Amino acid sequence: MSSQVTYGLRLLVARLVILAAVAVLVAFGLLAGGPGARWDVIWAAFGIVCVLLAATVWYMLAVHRTAARSEPRKPEDASAWRVESWWRHPGAATVEALPEELAKELPWQRGHHVRRPHHERLPGWTRFSHGALDCTVVSDGKLEMGSPYDNFPDADPAEMDSILARNYLSRSEVRLPQNLLVVDTGEQLVLFDTGLGTDPELGGRSFGGQAGRAAAVMCAAGIEPGDIDVVALTHAHPDHCWGLVDGHGRRVFPHARVAISGPDFDFWTDRSREEREPNPALREYFRGARHNLVTYADADRVDRIADGSEIVPGVTALSTSGHSPGHMLYKITSQDQTMLFWGDLCHHQLLLQRPDWRFQFDHDPTAASAQRRRVYEMVDRDRTAVFAYHFPFPGLGHLRPDGEGYAWLPADIELNLPASNMVKQSRRMTYLCTPTDR
Ligand SMILES: [Zn+2]
Ligand SMILES: [Zn+2]
Repeated sequence: MSSQVTYGLRLLVARLVILAAVAVLVAFGLLAGGPGARWDVIWAAFGIVCVLLAATVWYMLAVHRTAARSEPRKPEDASAWRVESWWRHPGAATVEALPEELAKELPWQRGHHVRRPHHERLPGWTRFSHGALDCTVVSDGKLEMGSPYDNFPDADPAEMDSILARNYLSRSEVRLPQNLLVVDTGEQLVLFDTGLGTDPELGGRSFGGQAGRAAAVMCAAGIEPGDIDVVALTHAHPDHCWGLVDGHGRRVFPHARVAISGPDFDFWTDRSREEREPNPALREYFRGARHNLVTYADADRVDRIADGSEIVPGVTALSTSGHSPGHMLYKITSQDQTMLFWGDLCHHQLLLQRPDWRFQFDHDPTAASAQRRRVYEMVDRDRTAVFAYHFPFPGLGHLRPDGEGYAWLPADIELNLPASNMVKQSRRMTYLCTPTDR
């Protein structure tokens, strides 16, 4: 007999005992009551029934506790929660099962139904297939960049407001999600860009204090940073390379080689440029890039790449200098599928609609605009998927010509949810999480 059936029978027996006790009490009261009643006998019987009831309630509670302890959650329980959580909080990034060690810590393990507080959403990562490659999107959090008028200084404010409104985007704050990509080729694990990192000595907090989560989220996704073989950098800006080294100056990816273009490595590690730089924010960019990159260079772990370099089989670097002196994007091809990991080629959907607007940190704005136009046309012509580092999570999508520019079409990602009916799954989860009424 299964443990669930035993559990249900025990509860049924306990309830029958309660009902029988109450019935006996009522019957005894009716029979023994009336004129000349033996109240001493009635009170004694009442006391016995109360003790019986208390014992039964205690027994029921014990049954509950035993059931909660002795029925360890099976892996499908976590996936069922995943479905229910997604169901209740469609905006939450909860699209994959939790690793077992993390799931152990969560409250549903105690056998109670718990609606998790909003701020305790599950880690932001998801997985999808690209040809034969297994891809994991790891959120580093987001950057808060301030007013759109400061970020796109050449833009006409009225036109910008209109585009933002039309695209349901904030008109007060430029928020840039940070979507890192880990590609498992079957032979190697390749991480594309690293996020902002956690070094308190660097100026990462000036981006709003909500980035730098990548290493923790990666662990939650079951990826050990020490297992990363290659870190492919698009460029050496803080939000892309400051995650290489932790707050103690140690390599976060101790076994990885770092691929970066020669011009970007040389530019951002040049101490004389750093000393000449008048803008204190940019001076910090130089200092942070040098600290992160040189730590790997000192261990002889930096590979200087050029246009067309193959990082690992199926992954090719494409030079797109402009936003940064040696900005690269990566073409990732498997079977008949291709996607471009485009780093900071385009930060924001405004730059899809208006490729010629300048972003405040573009190194060479004219070249950056030309690169945007070139790549947009290529992507549209070849019907290539785009992995956009700073677009809404998870960042995979396509472009469609729209007026003077392009519109963003998020891709339909296979979430690998359980095959059975969603509503049934949701009900099943309630059933599993609330062992009170089986
Ligand atoms: Zn950048
Ligand atoms: Zn960036």
